[in-house]
Amino acid sequence: MTVAAPAREKMLIGGAWVESADGRTFDVETPAKRGTVVAQVPRSAAVDVDRAVQAAAAAFPAWRAVAPRERGRLLTRIADDLEAAVDDLARTLASETGNAIRTQARPEAKTAADVFRYFGGLGGELKGETIPLGENMFSYTRREPYGVVAAIVPWNVPILIAAWKIAPALLAGNTAVLKPSANAPLAALAMARIAQKHLPKGVLNVVTGTGDEVGTPLATHPLVAKISFTGATDTGKSILRLAADRILPVTLELGGKSPQILFPDADDERTADGVIAAMRFARQGQSCTAGSRLFVHKTVFDSFLDKLATKLAKLKVGDPLDETSDMGAIVSRQQFEKVVRYIDEGAHQKGAKTVTGGVPPTEGPLAEGYYVQPTVFANVQNDWRIAREEIFGPVLVAIPWSDTDDAVRMANDTHYGLAAYVWCNDITRALRTAHAVDAGWVQVNQGIGQVVGQPYGGFKESGLGRENSLEGMLEGFTQRKSVTVNLGS
Ligand code: NAD
Repeated sequence: MTVAAPAREKMLIGGAWVESADGRTFDVETPAKRGTVVAQVPRSAAVDVDRAVQAAAAAFPAWRAVAPRERGRLLTRIADDLEAAVDDLARTLASETGNAIRTQARPEAKTAADVFRYFGGLGGELKGETIPLGENMFSYTRREPYGVVAAIVPWNVPILIAAWKIAPALLAGNTAVLKPSANAPLAALAMARIAQKHLPKGVLNVVTGTGDEVGTPLATHPLVAKISFTGATDTGKSILRLAADRILPVTLELGGKSPQILFPDADDERTADGVIAAMRFARQGQSCTAGSRLFVHKTVFDSFLDKLATKLAKLKVGDPLDETSDMGAIVSRQQFEKVVRYIDEGAHQKGAKTVTGGVPPTEGPLAEGYYVQPTVFANVQNDWRIAREEIFGPVLVAIPWSDTDDAVRMANDTHYGLAAYVWCNDITRALRTAHAVDAGWVQVNQGIGQVVGQPYGGFKESGLGRENSLEGMLEGFTQRKSVTVNLGS
């Protein structure tokens, strides 16, 4: 890939594009080519967070007074402009995240536009109820915004997750401060540039920097009224602790180690494609909903893994900006090294079999970036680290089973509960299994990504609350007020 001189980015505070107060910056590298800086971005600190939160707080009274349908109309215009900019956004995403442009970055940019369009149409749904307390009482509820929302997002699908938070938060009448990941702030800034053309100053602000220097001051700022966080479970726990001091409402979308349960009647090509999609191999496995534990019935264990390995061998790993790449690079050196450590551990685990992939080459074109081949380990035990911990890389572990209850017990033997996949052509068995699995979202015979409109969120330590839906907006970004009027004498 060819790389231009690093762009110097600014961030959005109070409608202006600004540097950090002390002028510091940090480098954003492309994972496609080690050590290649594509942009320099403001490295903010608590003082910048304060500027942004103050701007959001100042914009709140006027924004909440705008009629919901008018707020929705502005979101729809943002959706139009995002759609027109899909290719630019996709290139930025591919370059900063390493996600392949055809399979990941372009679909992400399109879906982010869809999210703004979806919420843009929901203004009329911010309605309350009347409560029948008797002829002499008139009691009704209102859905009111919280105020300033802190939206803290990770790097793996940075603008889609930002859209899941910003669009419903703004539609509901809140103002927002977005904190993108330091690994991938560029497309989020580009999205904000588009959104800002349609929004009053201060309604949306973006502060760039690290978790410690920006995330923590944002989560503890006294004018922040709601935190919507997506990221690792441990970070979510620390945010929840910080929020406890002010009884702050928090939505958490956290990690996962999601099971896929495959029945004997699903040993076919279509299921192999579906399992690959569910594992999010094309995003280097960097997905919270990656179905990274594959429980295969022992009678089809070997034949199914053969099918899987044949298909995985055909995936083209390479430059994320190349339209022919199916899979790009791991986001950063730190993540790459972590993933390689897990692969090394799996390769040396007694009893495990490497079906495909393994520790990445240290020479050749793929060694120029943080590329990892799809890797599958077979005959894994459910209590090994590679089966219990979220690797967040293209590493699938396969575990045989013979009894359905046992498969479900192993699937549920985890502190996570985000997603699950059931591969079975007998609808009764499939649905019984789907209902028995502890997960916020179970898919049967498919492994697609989140669909806007469907409440999304995790069980157990995978999260708190739901988003990406009407219910998510109402529960996550409004608070109910009851008003009771005495009509009697
Ligand atoms: P992370 O928790 O390290 O960071 C997420 C965001 O939080 C970043 O913007 C980061 O700068 C910020 N942050 C870090 N420490 C902070 C702190 N102490 N206080 C406040 N903010 C802080 O996660 P990541 O590595 O960026 O993303 C990968 C993780 O995100 C994985 O665990 C993945 O499963 C999870 N994830 C979950 C979902 C979901 O919808 N459930 C979606 C995508 C990713």
